[in-house]
Amino acid sequence: MSDDVGWDDAVAGWPGLAPLDGDVAAEVCVVGLGGSGLAAVEELAERGLDVVAVDAGRVAAGAAGRNGGFLIGGPALFLHDAIARWGTSAVELYRETLAELARLADRLGPGAVRRVGSIRLAGLPGEPASVAEQDDRQAELADCAAHAAALRAHGIAVDDYDGPLGRGIFLPDDAATNPAVRATRLATELARRARLHEHTEVTDIRAGMVTTTRGAVRAERVIVAVDGRLAALLPQLRDHVRTARLQMLATAPVAARLPCPVYGRWGYDYAQQLPDGRLFAGGGRDRFADAEWTDEATPTDDVQAYIETVATRMAGERVSATARWAASVGFTDDARPVCTEVADGVVAVGGYNGTGNLVGPVAARAAVALALDGTAPPPWAARS
Ligand SMILES: Cc1cc2nc3c(=O)[nH]c(=O)nc-3n(C[C@H](O)[C@H](O)[C@H](O)COP(=O)(O)OP(=O)(O)OC[C@H]3O[C@@H](n4cnc5c(N)ncnc54)[C@H](O)[C@@H]3O)c2cc1C
Repeated sequence: MSDDVGWDDAVAGWPGLAPLDGDVAAEVCVVGLGGSGLAAVEELAERGLDVVAVDAGRVAAGAAGRNGGFLIGGPALFLHDAIARWGTSAVELYRETLAELARLADRLGPGAVRRVGSIRLAGLPGEPASVAEQDDRQAELADCAAHAAALRAHGIAVDDYDGPLGRGIFLPDDAATNPAVRATRLATELARRARLHEHTEVTDIRAGMVTTTRGAVRAERVIVAVDGRLAALLPQLRDHVRTARLQMLATAPVAARLPCPVYGRWGYDYAQQLPDGRLFAGGGRDRFADAEWTDEATPTDDVQAYIETVATRMAGERVSATARWAASVGFTDDARPVCTEVADGVVAVGGYNGTGNLVGPVAARAAVALALDGTAPPPWAARS
C-alpha cells in the first residue's frame, strides 16, 4: 500500500517551485496555490499586475491535488436545493462554473479535461442490501427528477439515465480530470507570469503585510485562498467556515464500467474510473460526520473500509486498494462560499462545501474583483 496520493504518479516529474526567502514587495499577494489561488493569480496576471503567490506545501498537495477530479457544474447543493435556499443566484453560479469549465478545457486540452459528462445515481449500483436502502433509492429517484426539472427549466443540459449502473440523471456538460495534473500544469504556465513559491507557510495576515515562516510580503492587496485552512489562518472566519476531512482511495485496474464520473447516495459517494481501469473513489462523510469535523488530514480505517464498499459497488467486483489519502475542505452553514474582505485590502475566499474544483476559481475571480475594483461579492457568496 502506498502512502502517496493516487493521482501523483502522473506528476512525478514536477520540478517544484523555490521557497520565498526574505522580504519582498508586490502589488498583490495570493496565499494558497490550489485551484482557487491559481485562478486568482491568472486573473491578476491578466490585469498585468505584479503578483507574489505562496503555498505552505507543494502545488496540489492540498485538496486541489487530492480530490475526486469531478468537474461538475453548479454549487455543492443540487440545483433545485440551491435555488430553494439562495434564489436564482444559484443558477448564476451554475452558469459561471460551466464557463470556468470551458475555460479550463480550452487551456488544458482534452488529455487533461475529459468532457465525458457525469452521472448522478439514485443510490449506489447493485441490488439494495436492505428495505431501508431500497426506500432511500426510491426517494432519491424522485429527487433526481426534481433536480432534472430545475436544470431543464434553466436551459441546462440533462438526460435521464437508466443503464447498467442503475437509474438517475446524466449531465453531459460535466467533465473529469486528474486534479494533480490540472494544478501543476496551471502552475507551470502561471510561473512565467507571476512569482510563485512553494514551501512558504503564511503565519499572519494583516492589511498590507503577509508574514511567512521565511520572511514577509508587503502588498496593498491580498487574496487568501486556503479553503480548509481558512479558519486556522484567519481566526475572524472561525464562525463562518468549518474544516472537514474528506477521504479517498485508488484501486488496481478493474474491468471498464464507469463511462464518466459517477456520484450516488445523495452525492455523498463517488467514483471516477481512469482510461487505464483504475478506480478513484471516495465518500461516507455523512456516515462519519462527527469524526470528520477535524483539521487532521490523514486517512482513517473506518472511513476507508466504507469507501472500499463504495468502490466495490461502483466496480461491480472486488477491488484492491493501492493508495489511500485525505485532505481538508471548508464548509459553511448555508453551503454558500465565502468571498469577503477581512481587513483593508485583504479578501478571503473558500468554504466550497467539498465541491470547489470549479466554484473555487469562480469565487477567486470574484475575490479579485472585490479586492481591486471594490465590486460587491456575488449574491451566491456568503457574507460574514
Ligand atoms: C477527498 C476529496 C474529494 C473531493 N472531490 C471533489 C471533486 O471531485 N470535485 C470538486 O469540485 N471538489 C472536490 N473536492 C473539493 C475540492 O478539492 C476543494 O473544494 C478545492 O480543492 C478547494 O480549492 P482551494 O484552492 O480553495 O483550496 P485547496 O485546494 O485546499 O488549496 C489551498 C492551498 O492553500 C495552502 N495553504 C494552506 N494554509 C496555508 C498557509 N498558512 N500558508 C500558505 N499556504 C497555505 C495549502 O497548502 C493548499 O495548497 C474534494 C475534496 C477532497 C478532500
